[in-house]
Amino acid sequence: MSEEKTTMEKEKAILPDITNIKTQETFTLPSKGLIYDKEENIPASITLRRMTTKEDKMRMRNESEDKIRRDILQACILDEGVNAGKLKLADANFLFFRLRALSLLDDIYKLQLVCPHCGTSFIHEVKLSELKINYMTKDKLKNMNVQLPMSQVEIALKLPSLEDMIKVGDTLRDYYQKFPDVDRTEAIYTASAVIYIKTINKQTVMREEVEDWLDNLDILDNRALRRKLAEIDELFGIDTDMKCLCPSCQLEVSHGLPITAELFNPSL
Ligand SMILES: [Zn+2]
Repeated sequence: MSEEKTTMEKEKAILPDITNIKTQETFTLPSKGLIYDKEENIPASITLRRMTTKEDKMRMRNESEDKIRRDILQACILDEGVNAGKLKLADANFLFFRLRALSLLDDIYKLQLVCPHCGTSFIHEVKLSELKINYMTKDKLKNMNVQLPMSQVEIALKLPSLEDMIKVGDTLRDYYQKFPDVDRTEAIYTASAVIYIKTINKQTVMREEVEDWLDNLDILDNRALRRKLAEIDELFGIDTDMKCLCPSCQLEVSHGLPITAELFNPSL
């Protein structure tokens, strides 16, 4: 009798409030769709449905994380004609965390942190429904251009999409196969900046030419460009500049919001 009760309690813990489940939900994107060109066809809000076994299985594919994320989102996006690959990373990450809460009915995301003050390792629980979201505004769109201080070159910037990340991952993999001795950190350093460049002095430029231009950029121009890229990465999305108190020394610990196995396999 008592054993039976324990089993029931366990099931209740796994399936909380199953009488009131939303099968789908609409979310306003952090970008509010403002950052996209018309042909990219990303609306201000996206409707997701709950995940099924099919999407859970996709997580096990032997593919890059970006491809898996694109495919899972694509399967769960109910809006017609929306290509998940076109989603900017900040929007895609936001939807991924919302998809988790919608699918697993679990609002708690556990982070393993190490206190930089006393070295204590601890688990911090983040409530996903309480994440602070920064939204894009028309005003902030002005930040997508930069003039470099030394060369005076004008750069129009774009934020990378899931598709851009997939492409750059594939390109780098091919490159490493052709040149196994190449320094990977250096290759990533250039490739990760190229995907942000939309136009140089209002001209669309081929990827190889952008790489070449970047590698020959004056060091001060390069620093200014990198600072700008870091700045536009923060224009919208989940505010990952988070803080909590160390349970041991009570001092403040800053942390981000990495996507870990906890996202779709939360530990009890
Ligand atoms: Zn501490």
